[in-house]
Amino acid sequence: MAARAFSTVQLVNGSTGDPVLYLDYPGGDNALLFDGGENGALTAAQLGDLEAVFLTHHHVDHFIGLDRIVRANMDRDKVLHLFGPVNTIRKVYDRITAYEYPFFPFQKIVVKVTELLPGVARTATLECTKKFPEPVVEEAAWAGPVCYENADLRVEAVHADHTVPCLAFALSEKSGFHPDPLKLAAGALRPGVWVQEVLKRLRAGDPPQSRIEINGGSFALETLAANYFTESAGARVAYVTDTLWSDAVRPDLVKLAKGAWRLYCDSFYASGQAKQALQYKHMLAPQAAELAKLAKVEQLVLIHFATRYAGKYQQLIDEAGAVFPRVTAEVE
Ligand SMILES: [Zn+2]
Ligand SMILES: [Zn+2]
Repeated sequence: MAARAFSTVQLVNGSTGDPVLYLDYPGGDNALLFDGGENGALTAAQLGDLEAVFLTHHHVDHFIGLDRIVRANMDRDKVLHLFGPVNTIRKVYDRITAYEYPFFPFQKIVVKVTELLPGVARTATLECTKKFPEPVVEEAAWAGPVCYENADLRVEAVHADHTVPCLAFALSEKSGFHPDPLKLAAGALRPGVWVQEVLKRLRAGDPPQSRIEINGGSFALETLAANYFTESAGARVAYVTDTLWSDAVRPDLVKLAKGAWRLYCDSFYASGQAKQALQYKHMLAPQAAELAKLAKVEQLVLIHFATRYAGKYQQLIDEAGAVFPRVTAEVE
């Protein structure tokens, strides 16, 4: 099993509310958010830690939380990356500019929005210090699937088959040194900015005996490496929701979820509602399980249960479990 670098993996509204997945890494402004639905359960500090947001589509249950995301980051001197399907630039711009701002000099947020179309990526930079002028859109060829990359990870996107343009995502951690959440929790040093500094030096191949000052103490790089980090292949997390399990997207979705530590997957309906699933373009619980099985994931987490199953959500878990036994859901 691949070691995982993230310290937090939070399915914000469980399997029954708006699907929202929050992942955080030790130290720095480096959290990732999959989908922009209701996020009242995330604190302003958690949202302020965001580095990038990945919107599957613009239905209200996937987009209503954008305002809180922007507000929590408004005063920060940083670039917030935001990805979504076609028209994301216009929709995000309209939402941001629906509010009046005092434009205080400390409000420095830059929202870099990228919308992904088949073969094309369009990007615009929305800048608070410039008082959010009309976006200038730059277009570039995009062969896919990688849409975002930093020193630790890559995020891949593929097109899903929903009633409106919709994306599915996977996060893939790079192999090498990763902060180890268990070691960090047990160690004498509290996680802080030093985690990223040490990580940078480990990846740069600095000598093992070189020393690093942390909180007034001096530590050898090799000691820090052994006590707080793990070298691993890195993990993969796939996030698939609001899509039909159709021939058109099946190969891409299987590839996206391939070998994932965890697949979060749309399970809106039970098999009895196949007609509704076709009409509203969602997946059935056993189809989510079929995807998990084909992609050979370690764990399947069912998300986005329709409210019609309130009080009998177990039916959805049981239907999926008959196809793929390593399945869970977060239901109160
Ligand atoms: Zn939808
Ligand atoms: Zn939805």
